[in-house]
Amino acid sequence: MIIDNNPKEIKAMEAFHRGDRKEGSRLQEEFASEFREEYKNKDHCSCKKSCRYHGNCKECVAIHRAHQEHVPNCMRPMINKKIELLSELTEHTISLEIKPPKEILRKK
Ligand code: SF4
Repeated sequence: MIIDNNPKEIKAMEAFHRGDRKEGSRLQEEFASEFREEYKNKDHCSCKKSCRYHGNCKECVAIHRAHQEHVPNCMRPMINKKIELLSELTEHTISLEIKPPKEILRKK
């Protein structure tokens, strides 16, 4: 089961957008139920950082909400895709002005 860009969740959002809340909720619950089963004992967290809260979404999100600096790492690809679209407005020249910070990653 894939989490990011999950086809069922994409369909759920399409249903919500066309105003079909019942179908959207049904698909969303199906996704959540499959997720619960599939990831009962598997690592679902895509964050590569060395962090004691790895896989503990509740505390991870609370920490990010608390410090307000950036979002949980699992959300980077989704947000970067949207930033990339905006970045096209200046032909990605922002990339010449920024440098990512050094990160300490988990050992496999
Ligand atoms: S919210 Fe935090 S703990 Fe949960 S998957 Fe994302 S990075 Fe991992």
